[in-house]
Amino acid sequence: FYATVAAPKINVNVGTIGHIDHGKTTLTSAITRVQAKKGFSKHIKFDEIDKGKRREKASDKRRYSHTDCPGHSDFIKNMICGTSQMDVAVLVIAGPEGVMDQTKEHLILAKQVGVKNMVIFINKADITEEDVLDLVEIEARELLTLHGFNGDETAVIRGSALGALEGGDASCIDNLLNALDNLPEPDRNEEEAFIMPIASKTAITGRGTVIVGTLERGKLKKGDKVEIKGDGQSLQTTASDIHVFGKSVKEVRAGDHCGVLCRGLKAETVKRGMWAGHPGAVTITNRVKVELYLLSEAENERKIGIRTGFTDKMYCSTWDQVGRFDMKSELLMPGEHTSATVLLMKEMPLRKGMPFTLREGSSKTTIARGIISDLEK
Ligand code: GDP
Ligand code: MG
Repeated sequence: FYATVAAPKINVNVGTIGHIDHGKTTLTSAITRVQAKKGFSKHIKFDEIDKGKRREKASDKRRYSHTDCPGHSDFIKNMICGTSQMDVAVLVIAGPEGVMDQTKEHLILAKQVGVKNMVIFINKADITEEDVLDLVEIEARELLTLHGFNGDETAVIRGSALGALEGGDASCIDNLLNALDNLPEPDRNEEEAFIMPIASKTAITGRGTVIVGTLERGKLKKGDKVEIKGDGQSLQTTASDIHVFGKSVKEVRAGDHCGVLCRGLKAETVKRGMWAGHPGAVTITNRVKVELYLLSEAENERKIGIRTGFTDKMYCSTWDQVGRFDMKSELLMPGEHTSATVLLMKEMPLRKGMPFTLREGSSKTTIARGIISDLEK
């Protein structure tokens, strides 16, 4: 799909967001067309862009995975339930209409789910007066600032996605790619303190306990001090050895599945669901803000909604805990989303941006998905 280059390019996850019919799909197709000509992508025709599939494209500097979704509810779902965190959102606003309801809704949700950077594409410049484009730009910058982005510094590109797609002026696509290339590199959390949710443990007589899990963030080196938190406890230990696939290694990083031998740690004090981290890295709390999406009837066969005050187990990383959901909307129907505050029975290890699920019945089928948008003390 993309050009092979000597240096490995960093991957950036991009998504088009914005009001229906403002030109998100046209823009996505136009980008792949323009980049295909340079040998950086494969052109995906407008009607081949489907169902929020990820498209790879590249520039000289980076590789981009691009997600475009067919409808409004798919956007909401992708942002709340998406498997990969969107690093950058391209907010598409059609010149003739300006900022609309879904423009605002997508922007607010993008902020809630932790999208760090935004680029604005004012589309349909071919059928919009210059001074109207100026007004839309002002309105867009104000909207961004209002919702916690840096509206003044955000790149705003004007152009016609349709024109670029049909072989006309493609400079707007070049400008858009340049703006993306100029954003700071996404923080892949390698330099940060490490965090690892504990999946299992094994006692090693005379030496301590091996905790097993996948590093979610940061880097852990042999000999580092480690703190284990959750379930009302805070334990201090040292990583005296680290194992990956049965071999001892000097260090592990985000994404690695490993076993960490914790010196002197008593196995009975550690439980699955607790998190290990560098001292101070793990936060425990029993009150969080979330964005919640109730699966639609088509996804889950569930017809009934949930009311605010709904109380059930929340499943997050390796733990589950009963929580009460106080929702922004009184009633959440299948296929809808809402913001909510969750009060948990116990203080649990939590982190902004963590996904979670609600499950039902003996088969524990997922009925809702969500993402932690904020921690409250
Ligand atoms: P989406 O719902 O945001 O994905 O919007 P689409 O990409 O499906 O575009 C909606 C309509 O706007 C289609 O009829 C496009 O042909 C049209 N459109 C998209 N970009 C432009 C543009 O730059 N200029 C004009 N005049 N029409 C455009
Ligand atoms: Mg579309």
